[in-house]
Amino acid sequence: MNCFYEEGLRFTCQSGCHYCCAVEPGFVFLNKEDIVRLSNYLMLSQKEFVLNYCREVPFGSISYISLNEHKNHDCVFLEPTGCSVYPARPVQCATYPFWSTILHDWDSWSKEKRWCPGIDEGKLHTKEEIDKNLHLRQKGQPAVWQEIVN
Ligand code: SF4
Ligand code: SF4
Repeated sequence: MNCFYEEGLRFTCQSGCHYCCAVEPGFVFLNKEDIVRLSNYLMLSQKEFVLNYCREVPFGSISYISLNEHKNHDCVFLEPTGCSVYPARPVQCATYPFWSTILHDWDSWSKEKRWCPGIDEGKLHTKEEIDKNLHLRQKGQPAVWQEIVN
């Protein structure tokens, strides 16, 4: 079946822009692999990492885990030079803007330009690369606060 990005899509994060790591309140949800990778990167136990850098987001009888943000909504890992955990950054960050909500159709992709000046700029990503990102985001198992902290 044809999709609107059969020929690929252009995207390059723009130097000096930190809009999606700051500015507005938001959630950076972590999956189980993110927690392992980030706690190893910071040389902390998983529990230490979660208690120091994350917050609970209640969902029914459990809570999912999102990165903390400062009062101005900067991500806890955002520094003036950029992401301080870049090599271990969460899948949610690493796969942006190739998320199912944004890739729903051409309109949703184009509308994302309101927030992200890197959309339709720079590197051409093939359909295969884009689908790989989509799959990476979808296959992660959400991390559950109570399984790590209690
Ligand atoms: S909004 Fe786009 S250009 Fe700006 S930091 Fe995020 S990905 Fe990069
Ligand atoms: S982890 Fe890094 S890339 Fe992700 S929101 Fe925070 S600063 Fe941005």
